[in-house]
Amino acid sequence: MTNEIHQITLPTPYPVGDVHAYIVKNDTVTLIDAGVHTNEAWTSFKEQLKNINLAPEDIGQIVLTHHHPDHIGLVGRLDHVDAIYGHLLVHKWLTRDEKYINHYLNFFNDLYFRWGVPERFRNMEKTLQNTLAFTTTSELTDVLTEGDEVPGLDGFVTLGTPGHAESHLSFYHNETNEFLAGDFLLKHISSNPLLEPPMNKGEERPKPLLKYRESMKKVLGYTFSNIYPGHGDIFSDHRDLIIERLAKQEKRSKKVLDYIRHSPATPFEICQYLFPKHYQSQFGLTMSETVGQLDYLCSLGKITELDQEGPTRFIARHKVTSDM
Ligand SMILES: [Zn+2]
Repeated sequence: MTNEIHQITLPTPYPVGDVHAYIVKNDTVTLIDAGVHTNEAWTSFKEQLKNINLAPEDIGQIVLTHHHPDHIGLVGRLDHVDAIYGHLLVHKWLTRDEKYINHYLNFFNDLYFRWGVPERFRNMEKTLQNTLAFTTTSELTDVLTEGDEVPGLDGFVTLGTPGHAESHLSFYHNETNEFLAGDFLLKHISSNPLLEPPMNKGEERPKPLLKYRESMKKVLGYTFSNIYPGHGDIFSDHRDLIIERLAKQEKRSKKVLDYIRHSPATPFEICQYLFPKHYQSQFGLTMSETVGQLDYLCSLGKITELDQEGPTRFIARHKVTSDM
């Protein structure tokens, strides 16, 4: 037995290119993810639904893998649905929760200041406006967490797969082994662990790369028949891919370790060193990647934060073992 899963491919204004949503015909018609909010995407969405003899009104419920605009964009245009499911953080983004958004802005302003980021890269308000421009407002009817069965999507169980986003959930079918992966696993590119504030002010900052590594290791023991991703081809054989991605990341961390072996550097300086060509045009992405490597090296006890005035600087610890 397999479920009737249809892929819907929608344009985005982002470098990543097209994004996939999926229609699962089961007890009800479920839409998995909802593209980006542009007229072009909405027109394309309706046309592709028509090809499978559906109209937007036939969609009974929506399940969202994470809160990024290319995955939640069109939700507000489908306000007739009975249910919308996702992670609690998706709810905060869909409702544009004022308290959370302020906390989000303050978090990045403080962090980037401490990490030696020049002022011209610290315009988080503008970055946020650009993000919100490609979404609509709505709200979840129910929050999903690890292990929850998805109502109306018979047999699919929720797996928490944070890393690319704190809100990231994937959905696994126990009998068919189908896996609705969102941006957790992509075949052609590694998905970026992105910096985010903790859920509430005052809590510890999530470490996205460490979470992403844990999420990948968590699914090594699973068997997947088809993996339905948010971008790129449908695929299987995730184990080799994960092992390769983990090794590649560990290799990059060595480059960071070598750079700060003898002289301390701020996260911003390390970011410029790692991504000389891209740090300006893709600041958020490259900074997240850099800090991910620093979090990873800290977790292994290989580097430490210097205790001094001014911006935060990291340096390799003295007794560096020879295995790195
Ligand atoms: Zn995406």
